[in-house]
Amino acid sequence: MNYQASAARYEKMKYKRCGTSGLRLPVVSLGLWQNFGLDTPQRLAEQKLFAAFDAGITHFDLANNYGPPPGSAETAFGRILKNNLRSYRDEIVISTKAGYTMWDGPYGDWGSRKYMLSSLDQSLQRMNLEYVDIFYSHRPDPETPLEETMGALDSAVRSGKALYVGLSNYTADQTRYATDILNELGTPCLIHQPRYSMFDRWTEEDDLHDVLQERGIGCIPFSPLEQGILTSRYLEGIPADSRANSPDSPRLHRADITQEKLAKVKALAEIALERGQTMAQLAMSWLHRQPTVTSVIMGASRVSQIEEAVKIAQAPGFSEDELGQIDAILRR
Ligand code: NDP
Repeated sequence: MNYQASAARYEKMKYKRCGTSGLRLPVVSLGLWQNFGLDTPQRLAEQKLFAAFDAGITHFDLANNYGPPPGSAETAFGRILKNNLRSYRDEIVISTKAGYTMWDGPYGDWGSRKYMLSSLDQSLQRMNLEYVDIFYSHRPDPETPLEETMGALDSAVRSGKALYVGLSNYTADQTRYATDILNELGTPCLIHQPRYSMFDRWTEEDDLHDVLQERGIGCIPFSPLEQGILTSRYLEGIPADSRANSPDSPRLHRADITQEKLAKVKALAEIALERGQTMAQLAMSWLHRQPTVTSVIMGASRVSQIEEAVKIAQAPGFSEDELGQIDAILRR
């Protein structure tokens, strides 16, 4: 397929500075954790990436293990990039990560220098890239000295294989220690990727946002829609083509769609309606009320979900009254 990006791609998207860095990211980024593996037809994967880029989404989030099977999302992304997006490479921010199980044996997991750097080489090969824009430690490793994992991130930048580094799933304390080390090494942390949504506010309880604010690090929440629960997807039952109904879904199951959560989503959807938004848009806009939040990483099984999400670039801010009402619903 011969793709030509829309000439209007930068007209509607809003870009926010990532911490105190020089890099700006779109308010919505697209993640390839699910919906880009071998179970997704190549044509659909292409349509989603092109729709995203046409709407001003310049940031695509990957990891070594995304698929299924692990690695296949990077391979699919690399193929589409090579065939259709190569001339736009300098307009695109690509991230990858290492930290979860990727290959057999003692060197295919966690945070050793051995694993981190060989995994990055493999990711570059799968995506057909010379460098990624952001390389993350995907999770803290309790058994490897932080100095070793951070040293691997620093080496990735010094060797030209990554432009920036990030942390994912690190607590506030772990972030403090890790970023002290990175600062000493001269490779400051650009970004932190935590799970954060209306239904999962651990980052607020842990004071992670204070640490990020104080250190000039951007926050990019993942699963902002709670994998689809914070949308209208499940209000009338569990659709056959939904993630909760997929036997391959690693983290969302039918049992996660509880009446208690649905009652909250129904109440939140009324506030969304009053604001002229859909439920999904409300959930993503709400995260942006947090000053550290630079972008949110959504997942999409279809193009229409991306088209809906990018409209948050025009969303109104929140009044104190709206924030109070939302908090009251979430605390029920
Ligand atoms: P979301 O919370 O955005 O969930 C995505 C799912 O929500 C979609 O697959 C779709 O479900 C549903 N959805 C999206 N938009 C709509 C809409 N408008 N209306 C109805 N349903 C909608 O995020 P993910 O859990 O997919 O995670 C996003 C990204 O975050 C990942 O791709 C990855 O890049 C990153 N991530 C990082 C992790 C980490 O440890 N660092 C861990 C997990 C994710 P359906 O398929 O049913 O249509």
